[in-house]
Amino acid sequence: MHCPFCGAEDTKVVDSRLVAEGDQVRRRRQCLSCNERFTTYEVAELVMPRIIKQDGTREPFDEAKLRAGLLRALEKRPVSIESIESAINQIKHFLQATGEREVPSLKVGEKVMEELRKLDEVAYVRFASVYRRFKDLNEFREEIDRLERHEPEFQEPKAHEPQDKV
Ligand SMILES: [Zn+2]
Repeated sequence: MHCPFCGAEDTKVVDSRLVAEGDQVRRRRQCLSCNERFTTYEVAELVMPRIIKQDGTREPFDEAKLRAGLLRALEKRPVSIESIESAINQIKHFLQATGEREVPSLKVGEKVMEELRKLDEVAYVRFASVYRRFKDLNEFREEIDRLERHEPEFQEPKAHEPQDKV
C-alpha cells in the first residue's frame, strides 16, 4: 500500500502479528522511499451490507422483514422453525461474506429463493411468484407443473386397479 507520509508505492512489512485474540493482523510497515514506519490492521469485513432497492434507494438489512417473508411463504407447510432460522443464518452469512458494503435487493431475493427451495418446494414457488412478479411467466408455469408432478398428496395410488380386462 502507499506510504501515508510521502505517497510512495513501495512499502515493506517489517513485522506482522495477530492481535485482538487472533481476529486482527497488525502489520508494521516501512516506506522504502522516506523510511517512515506506520502500522496497519487487517480485519475480516463481516459487516451486513446495505440493501439497494430496485428504485435505487438504500436501506439497512432488515432481518425481521426477511423472517416475516419466509414465514408467510412457509405458512402451513411442514417446516420446523429451526430449519427456518438456519436458512436465515445462511442468508445473513452469504450477505456478510460478499464483503460488499451494498448489495442489490435482487441478489438477496435470489439467495432467499435458493434457501427456500431447499426447505420446501411449495413455499419456494409461493415466494418466487410474488418475488419475480411474473417476470417470466413460462418459468413460473414450469415450476408449478414440476411441483404438481412431485406432490404426493394429490396422486391416488393405482396399484389395485383390475388387471384382467381384455
Ligand atoms: Zn514514504
